[in-house]
Amino acid sequence: MQLVFATHNEHKLRELQDILGCKTELLSLNDLNINEEIEETGCTLKENALIKAQFVYRRFRKDVFADDTGLEIDALNGEPGVFSARYAGDDKNAVKNMQKVINLMAGAKNRKARFKTVIALIVEGREYFFEGIVNGKILDAPAGNCGFGYDPVFMPDGYPCTFAQMDSETKNSISHRGKAVRQLIDFINKLPVQS
Ligand code: IMP
Repeated sequence: MQLVFATHNEHKLRELQDILGCKTELLSLNDLNINEEIEETGCTLKENALIKAQFVYRRFRKDVFADDTGLEIDALNGEPGVFSARYAGDDKNAVKNMQKVINLMAGAKNRKARFKTVIALIVEGREYFFEGIVNGKILDAPAGNCGFGYDPVFMPDGYPCTFAQMDSETKNSISHRGKAVRQLIDFINKLPVQS
């Protein structure tokens, strides 16, 4: 079957295509000549994932999935959440976003946080959702150079290091995204084969 992954990120696409094998042919937004960013106007990760999937489905009537991820910090009432990519405002980048979190968390005793990924899948007009969560805590200073985003300040429960101090294989095996993607793949692989 053909399946659209509503992303411009060819790295994410290749990674999933490798796992799915040749039974499923993945197309990206680039393959559909969609150059604009789909606006994430939802209040939740689930809404944003669905907005992106519906955008493609309504235009092309193709089976499609989209993901959205956020870091939820208890002491910040669940922020940055849906604002994770743009937490530092217009002038955002990964370092500034992370520094904002460090500043807001200065002195906070409750350091609990979680990464959450929601995937919205539309197959033949029906909507399905998959969610992956990894719990952990926020450090008061960054540690490690691997990964991206908030990885240097996030230490997953049960590990003595941050995501940014792990190799990608270890991170993927326990991460929010890894968990959600494995559920998606399991589901897709059980779908009846389509031409
Ligand atoms: P996206 O929905 O995958 O684009 O993720 C939104 C934002 O969440 C990213 O821009 C990052 O700031 C953050 N983020 C998502 N996944 C991760 C991760 O695995 N580690 C660290 N930060 C992440």
